[in-house]
Amino acid sequence: MSTSQAHTRAADKWANDALRRDEQRRADGQVVLVQPSTTSFFRTWFASRLLLFALVSTVLYYASLALNENPLDYASRTRRLLSKFPLIDGHNDLVYLIRVELKNTIHDAERFTLGEGLLSHTDIPKLRKGQVGGQFWSLYIPCTGKGDFNTPDDTVRDTLEQIDTAHRLFRQFPDVFHYCDNSACARKAFKQGKIASMLGAEGMHQVGNSLGVIRKFHELGMRYITLTHNCDNVFATAWNTVAAGKPDHGLTPFGREAVQEMNRLGMLIDLSHVSHNTMRHVLELSQSPVIFSHTLAYTLAPLFRNVPDDVLRDTARKGGVVMITFVERFLTQDGRKTTVEDVADHVLHVVQVTGSWDFVGIGGDFDGTPHLPKDLEDVSKYPNLFEALMRRGASDADLAKLAGLNILRVWEENERIAKRLQRQRRENEATWSDRLWKQNYYGLPFIRTSVVNP
Ligand SMILES: [Zn+2]
Repeated sequence: MSTSQAHTRAADKWANDALRRDEQRRADGQVVLVQPSTTSFFRTWFASRLLLFALVSTVLYYASLALNENPLDYASRTRRLLSKFPLIDGHNDLVYLIRVELKNTIHDAERFTLGEGLLSHTDIPKLRKGQVGGQFWSLYIPCTGKGDFNTPDDTVRDTLEQIDTAHRLFRQFPDVFHYCDNSACARKAFKQGKIASMLGAEGMHQVGNSLGVIRKFHELGMRYITLTHNCDNVFATAWNTVAAGKPDHGLTPFGREAVQEMNRLGMLIDLSHVSHNTMRHVLELSQSPVIFSHTLAYTLAPLFRNVPDDVLRDTARKGGVVMITFVERFLTQDGRKTTVEDVADHVLHVVQVTGSWDFVGIGGDFDGTPHLPKDLEDVSKYPNLFEALMRRGASDADLAKLAGLNILRVWEENERIAKRLQRQRRENEATWSDRLWKQNYYGLPFIRTSVVNP
């Protein structure tokens, strides 16, 4: 029964009961003080007033629902929020799963059932259920950690293949994914009901020690690079080097060149996985706000993979965003089974330390880790995090920022600064100082005739 029907029936019943009581008093021989004609007039007047009241209150009830739904109905608040504001996740490893399990083949609809559902964390029905509005898809290729940076390996080729697979994936499901290499595109794709799909690489070992490769990756649509994965590279120190008791050198001189070139390109600098000094050095140097595509707070889970409070504050001061990850082994250090509440704790810690909801985001790391908290087991479960934060007092405006407005703001700021820097300076031609240049002149002419020994 609708509310208006209920109100109308209540009014009818009240009026009928009054009539019945009146009739009963008559039958019982009691004195009826008012004349029948007046009684009838009064009854009609009163019933119509009641009916009017019922109608008005019904209209007001629905108007208030439309304007301001029940704030304690967290599920419908979340549904409405994520349909109005994009949920943009900073890190998902589906493309890596496609590489290791399917050798980058996605055409065989029997094997690759993304549209119907997969056993892993990410597929189209789950993405839709989780109301995902945008995703930075990670183009992860592992680092070897061998430390000999002059020995050529397959990493740049493999990263190119990951870019190819991602582009093909977006084209294969054009009703679902919309490839974006700029923030305006991401906003538009979301409005059209598509999942804005962006590219990021998880470690500067993937650029072959070359700023030229960073530039070409940017041209191919890559929009962030993590400075290190779990190995040092020619640019910076990684977190687990420090965890292993070795010194934290932070950024190298060549790393400083890379940061400046990434600013000029508008390539977001991702500080997940890097050492604390690398974080600090980049925050000092970078002209553009940085991101942590998938990370957690050190104070709540003290391991070097996570971000200490001074870095959280400096990231905020520079206008960056810390995207909270769901990786169970980084969430706590006590080895217990975690829940969505542990993730909420980390979100609220960033909010508390930075004093605002402007610097926090979400980077689940789905398909990149085997163990996830209860109620955040796959990409369909994002709403649980929003409901948990609503229960703990977060407003819809706060949560819209967490969902995607913060990462969009940081991206836009990087684009704006890149435009300015491109007017001010040309490409950075710096090369890694220890690079071995394989050169053989075969008696070719010299560019500079005066050069005797180039
Ligand atoms: Zn990672």
